[in-house]
Amino acid sequence: MGDPIRTAVIVGGGTAGWMTAAAMARLLGRGRATIRLVESDAIGTVGVGEATIPAIRDFNALLGIDEGDFLRATQGSFKLGIEFVDWLRPGHSYLHPFGTHGRDAQTARFHQLWLKLVQDGLATADDDLAAYSASTLAARQGRFARPELNSNHPLSTLNYAFHFDAALYARYLRQWSEQRGVLRSEGTITSVARDGTSGLVRSVTLVDGQVIEGDLFVDCSGFRSLLLGETLHEPFEDWSAWLPCDRAVAVPSAAGDRIPPYTQAIADAAGWRWRIPLQHRTGNGYVYSSAHLSDDAARARLLATIGGEPQAEPRQLRFTAGRRRHAWSHNVVAIGLSSGFLEPLESTSIHLIQTGISRLMLFFPDQDFAMPDRDAFNRQTAREYDDVRDFLILHYKATERCDTAFWRHCRDMPMPDSLARKIELFRSRGRIVRHQEELFSEDSWLAVLVGQGIMPAGHDPLADTIPPDALRQQMTALRGALQRAVAPLPPHEDVLARYRSGGG
Ligand code: FAD
Repeated sequence: MGDPIRTAVIVGGGTAGWMTAAAMARLLGRGRATIRLVESDAIGTVGVGEATIPAIRDFNALLGIDEGDFLRATQGSFKLGIEFVDWLRPGHSYLHPFGTHGRDAQTARFHQLWLKLVQDGLATADDDLAAYSASTLAARQGRFARPELNSNHPLSTLNYAFHFDAALYARYLRQWSEQRGVLRSEGTITSVARDGTSGLVRSVTLVDGQVIEGDLFVDCSGFRSLLLGETLHEPFEDWSAWLPCDRAVAVPSAAGDRIPPYTQAIADAAGWRWRIPLQHRTGNGYVYSSAHLSDDAARARLLATIGGEPQAEPRQLRFTAGRRRHAWSHNVVAIGLSSGFLEPLESTSIHLIQTGISRLMLFFPDQDFAMPDRDAFNRQTAREYDDVRDFLILHYKATERCDTAFWRHCRDMPMPDSLARKIELFRSRGRIVRHQEELFSEDSWLAVLVGQGIMPAGHDPLADTIPPDALRQQMTALRGALQRAVAPLPPHEDVLARYRSGGG
């Protein structure tokens, strides 16, 4: 056993840095180790990253953060899923909802019953998959409620996440962390010192000459990847052959009268545009491929589509899809953009920060930095990134669009074998196989596979054990119960107004 970690240095004060600081303060407890965060006002943060997935609630719960307090502090709103507009073909849209669809039978999964209904010609025009999702129904009507706890209630199948202002969230976490003993240093790091024998990082030096020493370094320095990439030269696996978008332009606009409880991802000529509705403004962006669109054209297209006055100068961002081969090397663990980047199509980056933190806590080292622990951390991190990557590629690859050079490129590009196998399995009998720790659930894969126009040729034979009349009745009853449960829910704006006035 090595000596315990006495000083942990977090390099970077963006969402990744402050989430890491807060979690460490909560889990390590005061007095066990000194936690110091270094950030540079001169460099600033990436300043985007405002849509999340439901697991963010676990993170807030871990810190004991009250939801009302959180929504007020971050101008947040609720999110029931993502609407994908024009992805399959122009004029088409579907929702990837959080939560589950329908109800499983004893013998077969719900979606197998739905496939049987459709394939045996028992379905009506109302039998869209979306009719069996409480989250989709509520989102389409602009309504919101939390899930019912009683698992027999139709609204127990709801699930939700948040949209929030990234800068306000980082500020909120900073205050939370500093109150619990996290130390903060401001200044740009100009050099990094390593031990000549072990290669471990020993200290970082700020522009004013201040030297900050540590036992463990968490690299949250964003795309720069100051410690893992620039200092330790950990190789970067480039995935742009599968995910061709490499630029984004972002601009906020005034909030509309309606605040939809979902993110919009609208396919465009050379990528896609996002709309993230917050209480005080709407976040907009265009993620595009620089091989197919110039920066000026992307900016002009974004400004022409935001439907209101921009509230700031558009910000241009460059990136490459991919990840560092190992997220943990020597005594440096990279969390956030420093470990890799997957475009925000499914709002996964903040989640990857969160799982990176959980994994660091699971394998928290002493000063031996045991190799088996590092290996396990790196294997799990890599697998998680690879899974998310496949899910994102599905949106581009499974499309009927071929109206622009960009979409023709997506149609013709290769895809990873792991994704090809998943699609093939689904096409056959609608089966979705995922491994235990995979982020996206069967329901998520189902919504996107079907939404992107992939319909299986067959279904699970066990779904045939239910007589057709009974199945039709059961499905009609299910749809009716969901519609009746969603109709009286309050508009999302009313729920937010209650929080603003201190209720909720
Ligand atoms: P940053 O915010 O870049 O922070 C880096 C920190 O390191 C800063 O404090 C900086 O000052 C510091 N630093 C760097 N170099 C030095 C140095 N030399 N000395 C001292 N300090 C230094 N994620 C989602 O989950 N949902 C989304 O909707 C979403 N949308 C996105 C849209 C776009 C276009 C992009 C590019 C990303 C998006 N993300 C999204 C990702 C999300 O923004 C990031 O995961 C998140 O903000 C974390 O960033 P970070 O903290 O790793 O890096």
